[in-house]
Amino acid sequence: MTVYSSTVKRFGAIEIGGTKTLVAAAESVDDLADHRRIPTTTPDETLEEVIGELESAGVDAVGVASFGPVELRPGHPRYGYITSTPKPDWSDTPVVQIFVERLGVPVGFDVDVNGAALGEGRWGAAAGMDDFAYITVGTGIGGGVVVAGSPVHGAPHPEVGHVVVRRHPDDDYPGSCPFHGDCLEGLAAGPAVEARFGRPGNELSGSEIEQAVELVTFYLAQGFRNLVYAVAPARLVVGGGISKMHGFHETVRGSLTAELAGYPYEEAHLAPEFVVPPDLGDMSGLAGALILAERQSV
Ligand code: ZN
Repeated sequence: MTVYSSTVKRFGAIEIGGTKTLVAAAESVDDLADHRRIPTTTPDETLEEVIGELESAGVDAVGVASFGPVELRPGHPRYGYITSTPKPDWSDTPVVQIFVERLGVPVGFDVDVNGAALGEGRWGAAAGMDDFAYITVGTGIGGGVVVAGSPVHGAPHPEVGHVVVRRHPDDDYPGSCPFHGDCLEGLAAGPAVEARFGRPGNELSGSEIEQAVELVTFYLAQGFRNLVYAVAPARLVVGGGISKMHGFHETVRGSLTAELAGYPYEEAHLAPEFVVPPDLGDMSGLAGALILAERQSV
């Protein structure tokens, strides 16, 4: 008698975020809705909970999309680490090594925004596209840039939120980036909105929302212009908490069109679908983590 074992593989998908970590044991993308949400506290506590979850589920491979900066160069002595983050306790955390040792399965790894870009590129707002960017505007600003079908890695990976922008003439806020002060993230991410208006973006109302969106998109349009000129994406998928403010996508599209000033003339830049929200909502990163795990098992 032959015993047939199931050939369906089960993957561990993990998104480690600055405030929350999502984990799911999944055989397909449809299983991701049934994920667990764990607060991101210390690496010991948070990763232990994730490991416990996946141990009891049993997985064949794991994919991790993590907040950065992370080391992605294979062969680098610190490959698989979260490196020099300002987030307390997380600097120099060997994420990949911990999962490999504890779970004994292959582990795929990328920075969170590249994970989100992979997810949107397969099942979401950039499905089937080879050249696009996923940008998140929330507590920070980050982006995964996909060129010829692959997220850009390098030394160590792009940081599209920390580019230089010119100031709005009426804005004297010094900026909230701990490294650069008034870089794009320092002027347009959640903390900068909260500092100017006294409340987080999701608690603003009426004309305050309009003002905040106007100001934030003034800066973001410059960041997007830099991306358009540097890597020529065919679409910008823009998510994150700040992007959920009323009128955000429409306003940033208008500001970007003004920034590009018709150069070069490109139909795609003028289409409403050039700047869109993610289709997978807050699941983009977890979907990307699933892809990273799948790639380990073939
Ligand atoms: Zn910065």
